[in-house]
Amino acid sequence: MVRIETQLVHESSPPDPLTGSVVPPIYPTSTYRQEGLGKHKGWEYGRTGNPTRAVLERAMATLEGGTHGFAFASGMAAIDTAFHMLKKGDHVVAAEETYGGTRRILDHAYSTLGVNVSYVPGHETHAWAEEVTRETRLFFLESPSNPLLHLTDLKAVAKVAHEHKILVGVDNTFASPYLQRPLELGADFVIHSATKYLGGHSDLIAGVLATNRAAVAERIGFLQNAIGGVCSPWDAWLVLRGLKTLHLRMQATCRNARTLADFLEDHRKVERVHYPGLKSHPQHGLARRQMRLPGGMLSFEYRGTPRDVRRMLRTVGSVTLAESLGSVETLLSHPWTMTHASIPEPARLRLGIKPNLVRISTGIEHVEDLEADLGRLLRG
Ligand SMILES: *Cc1c(COP(=O)(O)O)cnc(C)c1O
Repeated sequence: MVRIETQLVHESSPPDPLTGSVVPPIYPTSTYRQEGLGKHKGWEYGRTGNPTRAVLERAMATLEGGTHGFAFASGMAAIDTAFHMLKKGDHVVAAEETYGGTRRILDHAYSTLGVNVSYVPGHETHAWAEEVTRETRLFFLESPSNPLLHLTDLKAVAKVAHEHKILVGVDNTFASPYLQRPLELGADFVIHSATKYLGGHSDLIAGVLATNRAAVAERIGFLQNAIGGVCSPWDAWLVLRGLKTLHLRMQATCRNARTLADFLEDHRKVERVHYPGLKSHPQHGLARRQMRLPGGMLSFEYRGTPRDVRRMLRTVGSVTLAESLGSVETLLSHPWTMTHASIPEPARLRLGIKPNLVRISTGIEHVEDLEADLGRLLRG
């Protein structure tokens, strides 16, 4: 069995059969010549299939331990295509602490089409079982969650789902296949915002889905072509380039995140740190079982008034205030006003997303520079 580090380098660069080029070519074509009716080389139209995109799709299937991969124009296009497997009257159970866009599309697009949605605290396995009805078709979750880094026991939740013939979809964006492989723990499909760790350089928007279930693959293949939110060959090529160093970037970001978590936990201006790699994290044991390393995302609660927090949050040196995550540079964000602003205030508070919560996507800079810059911010 080839290890994932080797797969990351080689699955992203299968030798080009035409020229031997060690990097896959970009095929910016909308159509393909046919010698006669139905006589072609397996490629007919650019939305249906593109050779550059196909390299990424095969690579993602392998990296996630699946049989089929699909590449989309964004993470949301991947999620939307997956949710199109649902029909009117179906019921979805989703983790309440999830990417804001996922809640938005469920609450403001699928609900209006007659799909019923319940939200549960994803890290409480029994909560999933309690929401199951005869109409439940899908469990959808993220682990670690955003922004409080709760973990869901993927194996346990998949077991509950499969007892009721319910599909399990996992948004694996925060972990990447290098840290966690949900299909091996029982998930039926995995999606990613490839915009984040897979691309890894804040220079593209893309999404992927991988599955090991033939029926899911067949339906997603149909829907991908029917809906058309496909990844362009240019972006597919950039994601492939990102994949080659995913393991190195993840190792560096996890090492830095661990050091920053310790630094913050000891800092007098910090009330609490959320990071699965800390012993103080309530699911530290699950993190060790389920993930290779505890990830590059962490959040902390600042000791100060909401006004102090607003004053503190800015770009200083190597620490950039910005949306998004999973890149080589360290990004700071404020869930209360940025990523989670669309969730009603009482619901935000109930989830534990307080005005003094700050999220860090750790980059791969020298950690002492990061500590120095964060230290300057914290002092206010
Ligand atoms: C960013 C993100 C998405 C959405 O992906 P886009 O590429 O921005 O469409 C979905 N899930 C998670 C966890 C994300 O961080």
